[in-house]
Amino acid sequence: MAKHLVLLCSKFHSELQALDRRELPPEEVELRTFSGNCERVSPLLDLLPEDVDPSGYETIDVVSGPCVSRLPETSDIEYGHHGTDLCFDVLVNPTTTRWYASRGYYMATPGWIRNWRSEIEPWGFDRETIREFFAPLEGGVLMLDTGVDDEASAHLAEFAEHVGRPSSTLPVGTDYLELFLAGIFLGRKLASRERAHSTERLRDQRVLSNYAMGLDFLRQLSATLSEREVVDFLIETFTMLFGPRKIRYLEAGSVPPGEVDAEYGEDGFRLPVRSGDEFFGVIRVEGLAFPEYRDRYLSVALGLLDVAGLAIANARRYETIRGLADTDGLTGVPNRRSFDEFLSKAWTRHAVDGKQMAILLVDVDYFKAYNDTYGHVMGDHCLRTIAEAIGRDCLRPSDLLARYGGEEFGVILVEADEEAAFEVAERIRRRIEDLEMEHEASDVSEAITVSIGLAAQVPGESRDPVDLVRRADEALYEAKEAGRNRTWRAR
Ligand code: GH3
Ligand code: MG
Ligand code: MG
Repeated sequence: MAKHLVLLCSKFHSELQALDRRELPPEEVELRTFSGNCERVSPLLDLLPEDVDPSGYETIDVVSGPCVSRLPETSDIEYGHHGTDLCFDVLVNPTTTRWYASRGYYMATPGWIRNWRSEIEPWGFDRETIREFFAPLEGGVLMLDTGVDDEASAHLAEFAEHVGRPSSTLPVGTDYLELFLAGIFLGRKLASRERAHSTERLRDQRVLSNYAMGLDFLRQLSATLSEREVVDFLIETFTMLFGPRKIRYLEAGSVPPGEVDAEYGEDGFRLPVRSGDEFFGVIRVEGLAFPEYRDRYLSVALGLLDVAGLAIANARRYETIRGLADTDGLTGVPNRRSFDEFLSKAWTRHAVDGKQMAILLVDVDYFKAYNDTYGHVMGDHCLRTIAEAIGRDCLRPSDLLARYGGEEFGVILVEADEEAAFEVAERIRRRIEDLEMEHEASDVSEAITVSIGLAAQVPGESRDPVDLVRRADEALYEAKEAGRNRTWRAR
């Protein structure tokens, strides 16, 4: 029987079944689930499945969010609690889960979603109440897709429909979970060997401590967001461990053909950084401080690269998804959410430095009539053309153009007073006129035109950027009233 037991919430049951357990041999470590209740804190022993007899193990480790409180205190079994703030931190790096949580996403696993009916039953909500419960969750339902259920998207759609929120999917796989659990298990194994002053073969010991180092590395990397940061951290760690004369990382695009594979020299090596089929780059280490340890270094380096590859794959996934969530699907410019975020940051910054900033709200004139005349496809095309023209020709890199609503764009101009903003607004307005997109149903011109509301201020003068937006909106209304195809300044 296995000496070590690791317990996880039952919502990860299917994921545990799917692990390849390369680093978690079943004869040494057992993986089981307990029935946690997210709404209540319970002592561990109350949550254990009936057929688990704790006295049979040397160590019992529990991975959980705040639902598990007390661990038993006994001298013959060593208990450990690996707390995570959000249970989903075992599937993907915590920065990612934080990001989604802060944007009002309700996260769930495919296993949970498959059984959503029975999972929500104990909540005792009727359909209406559950919709009310989910209503404030702006992001909707996010499935962290571990790939364990082929029908997951169908179940997700059903559940999202039931709670009346949109759904989205973040592919996470089970690699991260496997490494997370391997970290716990290997830590135990290492500790028990150290205690026993084992005289087992040195090689094994070394492999083990390499893992421990790799896993520590993993833990640090889980706080790392971008690919750049992962690479920097990798270089830093290699430098510290191997003391090389020279170390270089080449991204996939700049690796000469023929230098993609690993190569081992007298006093250095070149290794690819990859995850599964994805190739990210190579790291080249030259002039090891102690070349006689090259082989030992290599095994450490390979272990670390496994983890770094995974972290880069995660970072890329994260960046893509984040990009999607911040970008308007039709025009490719930032969406309303990015607008709000950018505004709030600029506002805070200028409240400190006392500089003015401005907002333009740009609304297409008679656009309903345009759609009615030329159809929605042309309407969409028109919006894309406008976004592109403004973004490319009218703004500084530090400013932001966003799709604010249907046929309305928002522009944030940092370090700009009313005069400067007026100039930009007029540049935008004329640029759109110059596009000469035919609009025969417009009462103001023969081509597409826009009206622009402008507001500028020093942030300190009122507490909330909402005021600035409101003023720009009022100015836009007045620009329409005054005849359209013009810029109007807020009072
Ligand atoms: P005004 O000059 O007062 O701004 O008149 P308007 O017709 O532009 O304003 P209104 O608010 O009455 O209509 C806006 C129209 O914009 C209605 C809607 O069909 C259209 N619209 C909003 N979003 C999209 C979109 O994504 N694609 C297309 N093709 N049309 C859109
Ligand atoms: Mg309009
Ligand atoms: Mg409008």
